[in-house]
Amino acid sequence: MNHPELDMSAVVERLESLRVELTEESQSSSGARDTVMLDQTAVGRLSRMDAMQGQAMAKAEEERRQLALRRITGALARIEKGEYGECIECGEWISKKRLEWDPLVLKCIDCAE
Ligand SMILES: [Zn+2]
Repeated sequence: MNHPELDMSAVVERLESLRVELTEESQSSSGARDTVMLDQTAVGRLSRMDAMQGQAMAKAEEERRQLALRRITGALARIEKGEYGECIECGEWISKKRLEWDPLVLKCIDCAE
């Protein structure tokens, strides 16, 4: 059974739109991660460092997005199995408020700490 206090179709909708958002962000930023090599001869040392820093940040952002995408897939799979909203640690229901704050949390507040 999924979480009894949640409107599951709303949760699915939220997860789907989050997935679309992350996928679009990931596609539109993919250019930012590949520019350093191209610009290396054209720009000075400082701006090259800026570019590399920007690239590192873009890479970290992308990793964050990919992780979130995997968690979305996981959350949708748990909904399919009827386990959404259950703490993976103790099996209790995660509070509705906590799930509304972040629909991807896997643990209740007690187990998360
Ligand atoms: Zn727990």
